[in-house]
Amino acid sequence: MYVCVRCGYVFTKEEMEEFFRRDFKCPRCGYRILRKVRKEVPKRVKAV
Ligand SMILES: [Zn+2]
Repeated sequence: MYVCVRCGYVFTKEEMEEFFRRDFKCPRCGYRILRKVRKEVPKRVKAV
């Protein structure tokens, strides 16, 4: 999984590839700096 350092949007690689098949960036804001995160992320984030 990945998290955008700009908007904090967390997504999987598969999810991202549905938006951008070649580019590697946030599907929400388009920011290119992402951080890799594991699935051990606390479930505090609510999807609004
Ligand atoms: Zn973003």
